[in-house]
Amino acid sequence: MPAEVLQEAASEMLDWHGSGMSVMEMSHRGKEFMSIRDQAEADLRELLAIPEHFKVLFMQGGGLAENAIVPLNLSRGAAADFVVTGSWSKKSAAEAQKYCRVHEAASNTSDNHTCLPDPGHWQLNSDAQYVHICGNETINGVEFHELPDLKSLGSDAPLVVDFSSHVASRPVDWSRVGLAFGGAQKNLGPAGLTLVVVREDLLGRSMSVCPSAFDYATVATHQSMYNTPPTYAIYVAGLTFQWLKRQGGVAEMERRNVAKAALLYGFIDGSDFYVNKVAKDCRSRMNVPFFLRDETRNDAFLTGAKARGLLQLKGHKSVGGMRASIYNAMPMEGVQALVDYMRDFEHSQA
Ligand SMILES: *Cc1c(COP(=O)(O)O)cnc(C)c1O
Repeated sequence: MPAEVLQEAASEMLDWHGSGMSVMEMSHRGKEFMSIRDQAEADLRELLAIPEHFKVLFMQGGGLAENAIVPLNLSRGAAADFVVTGSWSKKSAAEAQKYCRVHEAASNTSDNHTCLPDPGHWQLNSDAQYVHICGNETINGVEFHELPDLKSLGSDAPLVVDFSSHVASRPVDWSRVGLAFGGAQKNLGPAGLTLVVVREDLLGRSMSVCPSAFDYATVATHQSMYNTPPTYAIYVAGLTFQWLKRQGGVAEMERRNVAKAALLYGFIDGSDFYVNKVAKDCRSRMNVPFFLRDETRNDAFLTGAKARGLLQLKGHKSVGGMRASIYNAMPMEGVQALVDYMRDFEHSQA
């Protein structure tokens, strides 16, 4: 979270804009909260350049719930294609299996999730109602730097992108997207809010068992107010959108994220002590998994990092090693501090 956003939320905690209420105390249908919601959507649309023919939905349940909600809304109980590139897309495919036939169109499993399968070789099914990809594999550190153009691959199916962990870190080419979803907690705000951006023509095809509160058409018709939305999380995400605009928008975020990633990967690649195993053309700008070549030093590395205020560097248990998550709110100085520590630690071990 950007510190500025946390400070703003703190200063308005007890009394939002002279309303005499905390945002947490407002009716979600009152004019105060409606203005917060409307402003958040307008700012997000501007930031991500979301075209008119897409609906923005503020939902709940996180990315994991969307793994079920997407097939309930789009699969018609028929079939869907999945491109498995790491832990998250694998999870998405496993969950969708409850609602439709899942076809693995491509996978990087034999490469230990360290590369991206070439779209030219994807086995797309003609009966697939959609094609799912994970834009950024948070755990494995693999990112699509260009969204696949399904039309040019001979498929009319809409592309579904899980953009939980890189939303707002770079522009989105909406001409290639049918639906994008993401939990807010990685790059946008507090946990509890799930963002869905869906092309209008994909609404209204949900399976009859789809819960009403998770039916995109119902949610869209009610401007995300069919049930009580996560109001405080929407408000804080809205503050983040305004912060992003003050920084220069998503193009500026991308420029900074490219520079931050270049610094960290450049240091790792220039070292014999650390290693990143992901192919260079698909390395994540948000999540950088790396290993100490001598893994017996892992605990000492983490202890020393903590002493310098460098936290949450332990890699996911399924991958091991270390992982630096350098989301939008992480400044260049934070990445520089990590690189300085990594260099000092290496020298201390000589
Ligand atoms: C974190 C994450 C999720 C899961 O989000 P929840 O909000 O915990 O359900 C899904 N997909 C990706 C890519 C993630 O990084």
